[in-house]
Amino acid sequence: MSAPAPPDGVRQSFPIARLSTVRTGGDAEFFARAGSDGELSELLRWAETTGVAVNVVGSGSNLLIADDGVAGLVLKLDRELAQVELDGTQIACGGGARLPAVAAAAARAGLSGIEFGVNIPGTVGGAVRMNANAYGGELARALAWVDVVTAAGAERRTPSQLGFAYRRSNIATGEVVARACFALAQSDPETVTAMLAQMRARRHEAQPQGIRTFGSTFKNPDDPVAQGRSAGILLAEAGCNGLSVGGARFSPKHANFIENTGGASTADVLAVMAEGRRRVLEHFGVALEPEVQTLGDVRVPWS
Ligand SMILES: Cc1cc2nc3c(=O)[nH]c(=O)nc-3n(C[C@H](O)[C@H](O)[C@H](O)COP(=O)(O)OP(=O)(O)OC[C@H]3O[C@@H](n4cnc5c(N)ncnc54)[C@H](O)[C@@H]3O)c2cc1C
Repeated sequence: MSAPAPPDGVRQSFPIARLSTVRTGGDAEFFARAGSDGELSELLRWAETTGVAVNVVGSGSNLLIADDGVAGLVLKLDRELAQVELDGTQIACGGGARLPAVAAAAARAGLSGIEFGVNIPGTVGGAVRMNANAYGGELARALAWVDVVTAAGAERRTPSQLGFAYRRSNIATGEVVARACFALAQSDPETVTAMLAQMRARRHEAQPQGIRTFGSTFKNPDDPVAQGRSAGILLAEAGCNGLSVGGARFSPKHANFIENTGGASTADVLAVMAEGRRRVLEHFGVALEPEVQTLGDVRVPWS
């Protein structure tokens, strides 16, 4: 029996580098945008019947895509699955909604609790999978529930059922965070809006702007040998600011950010990561672990 035809809107050999903020990597074997629960279910059922793997891309803001591309189906949530809806002090969002938009909508309504989202250029689904955080704001504190969808159906999980740890959750590859709901506290629009402005200004000072990057490259180590120093400080002290391979370099302003200075490949990014990691290991005896997630067959050049 031949494989079932893909649902409408499924594209083959679709370039997805532009769906990542660092803009490297090859094509998705299959790519589709899911704009509703019905479309998402149909795509997931087709992938299961056909036996192809499923991956999701959010804003691609912490993602390194294999230069050889990604086998299987890559999904992006949009339309109904990217909406932001207020209901009293709750905000229900599609997994594809952008976190800064959620933070801004909350501020306009005078709702407090998700301010830190203003500086995280990812989607709600990506933030849940990554347990994103900034300036002490904690996703788990604001989150009421998420709906996780697979070909088998939807399952609602509360924060205590999401296995949150540092930049980690129990959302597995192939599971799609289709919706989430934040339970916020009533404040007033001026106070919350002022907090967003303050957070944006702090970020502007600390991090390079307008560059092609995926944010933090390595996690901050919990190894006591690091003596509390962040990955960025260790890389800077090991002389990595501005270090480049091909079109990829550690930012001169923030050493834990790698930027695509033009024409970088994922191989260039991995090579510069490997050199940074080697220097930190040699100087300080600390083995940095990547924070950036990978899509496709991306092999880190160290074991
Ligand atoms: C300039 C800059 C600043 C940043 N600052 C911060 C910061 O302060 N704090 C912080 O925590 N992070 C930060 N990041 C990293 C990044 O924005 C976060 O990790 C963000 O949560 C990733 O969301 P995304 O939608 O872009 O996910 P992607 O990068 O697209 O994907 C990341 C992972 O999540 C999965 N995923 C995405 N969407 C879904 C979904 N709907 N369902 C299931 N899985 C999904 C992907 O498959 C992948 O495994 C920064 C990045 C940049 C570029």
